[in-house]
Amino acid sequence: MLDVTIWGSRGSIPVCGEHFVRHGGATTCLEISNPADDERVIIDCGTGLAELGKAWGSRLPRALVLQTHMHWDHIQGFPFFAQLYNPAAHFEFWAADREGQSFREVIEGQMARPTFPIGMDIMPASKTFKTLATSGQARRGAMTIEWSEMDHPSGCTGFRIGSAGASVVFSGDVEVQQGCRQALVALARGADVLVMDAQYLPEEYPQRRGFGHSTPIDAVKVALEAGAGHLVPTHHDPTHDDGRLEDKLGLARRHAAGSGLRVDNAFDGMTLRVAAQTTGRSVRGGDLATAAL
Ligand SMILES: [Zn+2]
Ligand SMILES: [Zn+2]
Repeated sequence: MLDVTIWGSRGSIPVCGEHFVRHGGATTCLEISNPADDERVIIDCGTGLAELGKAWGSRLPRALVLQTHMHWDHIQGFPFFAQLYNPAAHFEFWAADREGQSFREVIEGQMARPTFPIGMDIMPASKTFKTLATSGQARRGAMTIEWSEMDHPSGCTGFRIGSAGASVVFSGDVEVQQGCRQALVALARGADVLVMDAQYLPEEYPQRRGFGHSTPIDAVKVALEAGAGHLVPTHHDPTHDDGRLEDKLGLARRHAAGSGLRVDNAFDGMTLRVAAQTTGRSVRGGDLATAAL
């Protein structure tokens, strides 16, 4: 069993305002934990990480952080993650190098004058950094972690987290029409939940080809081919307000109709309890609130 919380579901830049209330505007951050042993994984350090830090408070000052890539919308929460200012805290960061730079080098560059007032050395939490190969597998307590490289400018890592037969896949930022579709299908094969970049509407995609993102129809196709149980489109475009995102969800659901694939938009604060698939595509999980979106 795995518990998933989506703390940031927006792509590119945070947004706020009355038209973005239902889905929220924080950028990418997910928390995945195994209730059996309380191991915790965080994926990406977007502005949603600051919200996660507020929710954790002074408890749980440790986690493994898996970083998909280093674009702004995936690192901006790092300096505002309160637990990094706790000397008793310990975090491990795993990330593939991008354009010859390690995650640590990129973060140190982010937290440097003149673009930031304080350096990373002001954070007393223990931090270790590991460079990931483009693909691999590891174990963390009862969790299994598998990863592989996806198509995105400067690259991006997709992750699969498993525990006791339950599995969650996070695509990272991904443009499957650039060629990595089969790699993502393989990573998501039989997954209970696939949280996937579906930023652009199909009519927007031709003008944004090469920007590194997919459409909800791409996401449905990948989920169906992989036999995933529950598709959660995310990395919502900052220009897409709640109404537009509901339209986008309707489009995805129409393409999934009759397949048994469940589709719900990601939103900030979404929680999922994921158990192993037991009958076909049935999957236990998801707030009732997700059904309303
Ligand atoms: Zn992004
Ligand atoms: Zn990106």
